[in-house]
Order: sequence, then C-alpha cells, then structure tokens
Amino acid sequence: MSLLELNNIKKTYLLGNSVFGKRNSVEAIKDISLTLEQGVCLGIVGESGSGKSTLGKIILGLEKPDQGEVLFQGKHLHSLKAKELRELRRNLQVVFQDCYSSVNPRLTIGEIIAEPLRNYERLTSSEEQKQVQGLLEVVGLRREDIHKYPSQFSGGQLQRINIARAIALKPKLIILDEAISALDALVQIQILNLLAQLKEDFQLSYLFISHDIQAVNYIADQIAVMYQGEVVEWQDDMEKLEQLEHPVSKKLISSVLPSYPVYF
Ligand code: ADP
Ligand code: MG
Repeated sequence: MSLLELNNIKKTYLLGNSVFGKRNSVEAIKDISLTLEQGVCLGIVGESGSGKSTLGKIILGLEKPDQGEVLFQGKHLHSLKAKELRELRRNLQVVFQDCYSSVNPRLTIGEIIAEPLRNYERLTSSEEQKQVQGLLEVVGLRREDIHKYPSQFSGGQLQRINIARAIALKPKLIILDEAISALDALVQIQILNLLAQLKEDFQLSYLFISHDIQAVNYIADQIAVMYQGEVVEWQDDMEKLEQLEHPVSKKLISSVLPSYPVYF
C-alpha cells in the first residue's frame, strides 16, 4: 500500500460570468494520478499557475476535487467522516511559503509549536514545555526561544518554527508548498539541509512543491513536472534529471542560474 495515491484527479475553478454571459473557468488540475511511498520525497515542479498549490490543497483536504480519489494510508480522504479525517490529518502536515502569515504574531513560539499537540494530545504543561523545547533543538533553535514572539525572528528562523510545528505530531507526510522560496539563497540551503536531516531521522515523506528545479534536485528522490494542470513528465532517478525531455522541463532546467553551483 502506497502512503499516498491520487487517481484521476480533476479540479476546475469557476470564475463567474464573462461579459458575453459565458461562464469562465480554469482547469487547475486536468487529470492527475500519482503515488508516493513512505520515506520518499517527491518534488513537484512547474511554473507559476501550473496547478501545484491546488494539488497540495486537494491532498490536504482543503479543496475538493471534481473527480477522482485521494487515498492516504489506504483511506479515501474525501469520503471520511469528520472524526476519521481528524485522525488522519495528524499524519498529514503542511508548511507554506509565507512564514510570517503562518504564525500568529500574538502567540509565543511555545504556543505556536504546541498548537497541534494541544489539538491532539493531552499533555501537562511541563510535558508540553519539554516537547516544545525538544522540537526547538531539533530544528536548530534554542530552548529559550520558547518564550519569544514571532517578531523577534528572521524569515529563516520562522520557517524553522513552522517546521517544528509540522513535525510535532510525528506525521507521515509533510507538504512543503514553496516552503523555501521566499528565503535568501543561503538560508534556503540551510533549510533544505534541515529538511533532509529530519526526513532521515523521522522517516518522513515529503511532497516538495516548488517552481525551483534546483531546490527540487537537491532534496527530492523523484520528480514530477507539472504544466497547465497536468503532470507532463516524471523521473524516479534524480541522477537522470538532465534527461528530462519535455520543453517545460528543459526550460526549468535552463532557468537555473549558473552562479549557484552549490546544488549540482
Ligand atoms: P501554482 O501553485 O502552480 O502556481 P495554482 O494551483 O495556485 O498554481 O493555480 C492553478 C490555476 O488555478 C491558476 O490558473 C490559478 O489562477 C487558478 N486558481 C487557483 N486557485 C483558485 C481559486 N481559488 N479560484 C480560482 N482560480 C484559482
Ligand atoms: Mg503555488
């Protein structure tokens, strides 16, 4: 059984009426099927508007597909009862691009990271503090940071905090939607290294969504190239990345700046 299985997913957004009275729509996902095994990082790469985030939202249950099915741990995600879905969502976490809007500025770092623990586990306050401090250390921050507020951290540090919250319940899959895209190049590498380490330590699976094929190459075990709502190319062997043939793949590869030799 695959950890995640998508079968013939379709999603169209209706955009209201055009001036001619015809309904406008966008086929965000045309017909996507894919599988993801436990412990694997699948990179989803594609230019802006190709449907990457919509795909992530469908897997998270934040959007309902018009057609097709999503199986997570063998269960049909979109036909579960609320209670079953809640249990399943423990194992399915997300980190978005905007590290600032992902944290409530009025909460302490301790409260932010403890949020999933409070939702799912009944811990005493000292147990909770211990767990949160442990998570801070795991993501490369200090135990004392637990009492600080988001405004006291840089973007890279906030993304570490978002990652700490995402791994708090030891999930099976984390969806990383452009999670490093807003960060400086050097910080991107640090966060990629952290993600790679966490993947090893906690046997995590990632769906690493990015417009940046270089970042995907750095962390992913497999790659799917998306274009206009479809997966146009797939490669299981990252050593063969250069062999990608689709014009969109070639364009993404050629857009990689030669001034970043660190990844390749
Ligand atoms: P990506 O993440 O690859 O940039 P998205 O999944 O965000 O792409 O968007 C795919 C397409 O669907 C785009 O044309 C986008 O404008 C459209 N779209 C996404 N979300 C919505 C929405 N909530 N309502 C209408 N159109 C949307
Ligand atoms: Mg997106």
